[in-house]
Amino acid sequence: MDNDNSSNLPSSYDPSQAENRWYPIWEKAGYFAPDTASDAAAYTIVIPPPNVTGSLHMGHALSYTLEDILIRWRRMQGKKTLWLPGTDHAGIATQMVVERDIKKTENKSRHDLGREEFVKRVWQWKARFGNQITKQLRVLGCSLDWTRERFTMDDQLSLAVREVFVRLHEQGLIYRAERLVNWCPRCHTALSDLEVDHEEDVKGELWSFAYPLTGGTGEIVVATTRPETMLGDTAVAVHPDDPRYIALIGKTVRHPLLGYEIPIIADGQLVDPTFGTGAVKVTPAHDFNDFATGLRHKLALFNIFDVDAHILAQPEVTGTLAGELDHNAWNQFAGLDRKDARAQVKQALEKLGLVRGSKDHLLALGKCQRCETVVEPSVSVQWFVDTKPLAAPALEAVKTGQTKIIPDTWVKTYYHWMENIQDWCISRQLWWGHRIPAWYCLDCDSPKGTGDSQRFGALAKPIVTREPPKKCTRCGGTRLQQDPDVLDTWFSSALWPFSTLGWPKETKDLRTFYPNSVMETGFDILFFWVARMMMMGIKLMGTPPFPVIYLHAMVRDKNGDKMSKTRGNVIDPLHLINGCTGAEVSPQFATEFPDGFPAFGADALRFTLAALSQSGRDIRLSVDRIAGYRAFANKIWNAARFVMMRIQGEIPALSAVEKDLDSADRFILSRLAAAVTANDEALTGYRFGDAAQAVYSFFWDEFCDWYIELVKPRLADAASPSARAAYSTLVHVLDQALRLLHPMMPFLTEEIWQKLPLKDRPASIMIAPYPHGLERWRDQALEADYRLVQDAIIGVRTIRAESEVARSKPLEVTLVVPEGADRDRLEAHRAEIMHLARLYKLTVVDAYPDRPRETAVKVLGRIEVVVSLSGLVDYAEEAARLRKAMQKTTEEYDRLSKKLANAAFVAKAPAAVVEKDKARVEELAQMIKNLGESLLRAGL
Ligand SMILES: [Zn+2]
Ligand SMILES: [Zn+2]
Repeated sequence: MDNDNSSNLPSSYDPSQAENRWYPIWEKAGYFAPDTASDAAAYTIVIPPPNVTGSLHMGHALSYTLEDILIRWRRMQGKKTLWLPGTDHAGIATQMVVERDIKKTENKSRHDLGREEFVKRVWQWKARFGNQITKQLRVLGCSLDWTRERFTMDDQLSLAVREVFVRLHEQGLIYRAERLVNWCPRCHTALSDLEVDHEEDVKGELWSFAYPLTGGTGEIVVATTRPETMLGDTAVAVHPDDPRYIALIGKTVRHPLLGYEIPIIADGQLVDPTFGTGAVKVTPAHDFNDFATGLRHKLALFNIFDVDAHILAQPEVTGTLAGELDHNAWNQFAGLDRKDARAQVKQALEKLGLVRGSKDHLLALGKCQRCETVVEPSVSVQWFVDTKPLAAPALEAVKTGQTKIIPDTWVKTYYHWMENIQDWCISRQLWWGHRIPAWYCLDCDSPKGTGDSQRFGALAKPIVTREPPKKCTRCGGTRLQQDPDVLDTWFSSALWPFSTLGWPKETKDLRTFYPNSVMETGFDILFFWVARMMMMGIKLMGTPPFPVIYLHAMVRDKNGDKMSKTRGNVIDPLHLINGCTGAEVSPQFATEFPDGFPAFGADALRFTLAALSQSGRDIRLSVDRIAGYRAFANKIWNAARFVMMRIQGEIPALSAVEKDLDSADRFILSRLAAAVTANDEALTGYRFGDAAQAVYSFFWDEFCDWYIELVKPRLADAASPSARAAYSTLVHVLDQALRLLHPMMPFLTEEIWQKLPLKDRPASIMIAPYPHGLERWRDQALEADYRLVQDAIIGVRTIRAESEVARSKPLEVTLVVPEGADRDRLEAHRAEIMHLARLYKLTVVDAYPDRPRETAVKVLGRIEVVVSLSGLVDYAEEAARLRKAMQKTTEEYDRLSKKLANAAFVAKAPAAVVEKDKARVEELAQMIKNLGESLLRAGL
């Protein structure tokens, strides 16, 4: 071994340089892929597939950091480890991005291009821009097996989608029905309940008008927040027990604009007799409650809107209306959007003298999650999954503990959702996605509409098959047309834990890596994704897809606010890793970082995210924390550099120098063993913050600040057994500690580890065994000795800092230690205490009744540390300052205490004022106590 190792490590660590170099080396060497020939136990995580349109945000960075930590840790433990990457085609999101792009570059709509050409363009777009996020995952250091990368629209995954659709359809679990669904008039598609954002307390108007009774005198007044929907009313409902209306039930009113007759029905479920007039209009085609009422009373379904939520050119009525509908009257509304239709209807009713007042009203608006357009509940024929039979075993799996949810605060939410699950609308009126494997025969069923808006009615009987059918199974006709709809994006991602492994084929990967080991993701997609994976995994594979669901917290800014563009507090993880310009930072950081962020490196960001992951608590990310962990990386670098500069000659194996190890060596080996255990336990329990803390405090406090300082005097005589034992311990501990840290800081650890003088080692730290079998070094008694020694030193250092005595000035210290055994322990480490605390004189006594003046005292555990400060501190000046402060504080304390003792004041003053005064009194009492201690310390 080269005698001079110092030239191997540059004086400072450059993260960008190391990070750019190591990743391709690891990837090329094949370290990310599992050794399928090995008979070790499998450990699998499938990545929550980011949208193909996506770029890495802080939520991703957190998720993928935690997953990489688990994967690297298990890989080093010798597991057959697979972390499978991939992206999601993200139906509606991707379609919108590409539509916008085509509009901008060619000023064309997708309709101008036609379906086939548009889909081709999306694939082209994906080829060009779709791998941005996978590049970013490499920058973050993710050890994903890229040879198994999947895309939800790969041929094999599409095959899995068709197989599941057909199987569930054969079992009656997928069906087609006419239902009221949330419709986005902008995106032209049905949305599941989960894709609708509800904006609460929007200011609106509750507007009343009268329906005249048919053929007589009298009227019924109804109130509505959406007057335009009265064009599609097919009933007026009252409560069956409401005396005001009992006589009218079964009679009819006349539609004042369109002429047909509307029945007055009694419905105890829909009507609250205490609200408004106790009578409500019923529009079954455009309101969920009214739709249910319509089913109960077999009301006609009157659809008034087209796909854009404009009034239809021709009214569409399913069922029959009583009396004639006046088509000429209809024409004055045809084509109007919702806003104009509302104005026109109000005006028309006004003219007829039927308006009965209006008042302000707060309402909830459902908006499309993608484009924020107000959703229009509309009747249409869609495909649904009958979810109740699938949800029952998925619920059971969590109840029986087969699958565990961490943190368990989410268990209740999961139960509630699974117990109240609604059928899942899986068809989307989009072009980008898995086309539904259903075909209609044009000879048996005739569609309505043409082109894109061509739809087959509820009664059509499609042929559902895995491959396109050649002819109609009923009439033998060959004029077949595939269902134009595609599946909800979450349908294919629900299959992700097994479709990515080759299902429906019985592949070796599927046998080896299903069930996965853990599902790590954000709580916000517990329902969208995790619950559906549970349902599909159990249904199609027979077992839950994973035994553990770990839901990470939300990354917020340092004040606890959600990161958002409007708040101006978004941090791009790539900016922190690689650095960025001042123009690129969000407004919140503009003052502090006018020139942008420096390159903190992927390791510092990863460590920060792990350290801040305390189970169930939101993560408050601050740039200071990242800077702090970059300093940690530098600290390790400098420690390693020091070790490399000081070690000389052949470094003996630890076993060869065991008899020469001194107590400091044994102490650090014992602490290393403790750190490994703490880290293992924390990671096993998904307590990433605790794992990071264990590694951090071992590396920084115990190895760098304690052990390295302790051994320095021993390193001078390179040939001495003591120096050689120290060399061996330094290298051994550094080696093991770097392995311990590797899952959190992969790049720094590899960079240093490669330079360590180690024999017979693997080619990379990432495939080196994780620290284990160190328990034999654990020595609790020795650790207790050192805790005592540390207390003594911390006591001296604290007094030094408080009294502002420079480190260069040696001190005289007396340790007052009542226990004889403790005194013996401290005496045994006398040299270390004198060295680390910088003392010229140390006395250890059992009692110290007459403490001289001009000393400072700290009590730590069972030791009283007495530092002589005479000649080091100007006591006259100090005493004057302290006395003055004491007087002022005592005066204020007396005044406030008196005020609070006055019952009249307490009774009259506002509670907040009294609280504030009480808090101040407590604060003052503490200040008086502290000042008293300082005076005592000064010996005054
Ligand atoms: Zn929309
Ligand atoms: Zn046919």
